Amino acid sequence: MVYDPGNIFARILRREIPARTIYEDDYALAFHDIAPQAPIHVLVIPKGPYVSIADFGAIASPEEITGFWRAVSKIAEAQGLTQEGFRLISNSGPNSGQEVPHFHVHLFGGRTLGSLLT
Ligand code: IMP
Repeated sequence: MVYDPGNIFARILRREIPARTIYEDDYALAFHDIAPQAPIHVLVIPKGPYVSIADFGAIASPEEITGFWRAVSKIAEAQGLTQEGFRLISNSGPNSGQEVPHFHVHLFGGRTLGSLLT
């Protein structure tokens, strides 16, 4: 799938629209989801133009991949979730219901999560 630079997360990365940012480094930006489904619902996105985990895993550099997942771990720790637990979800493609075509990981926490999804 061709990356659309007009997608909403690309616009957040370019600071064209606001977001409640909680973390940023060279590889990732994290901000609160606009429609939270748990007490903590954070989205973590890479800085490069990847539509989903399918092409992130396939074409991002090892440095980007490592940096991104290290950021996810740091954010979970900073949110105080490593002891009580949390969940990561990444929708990829039409069957998943992916709405925003920029790879992102949902981080859910702050309550007991259901047996499937949230
Ligand atoms: P997806 O279905 O995995 O693509 O999830 C997209 C997520 O982005 C949804 O949970 C939306 O609530 C969230 N979202 C959409 N627009 C914004 C925004 O402008 N700021 C923060 N979150 C957003």
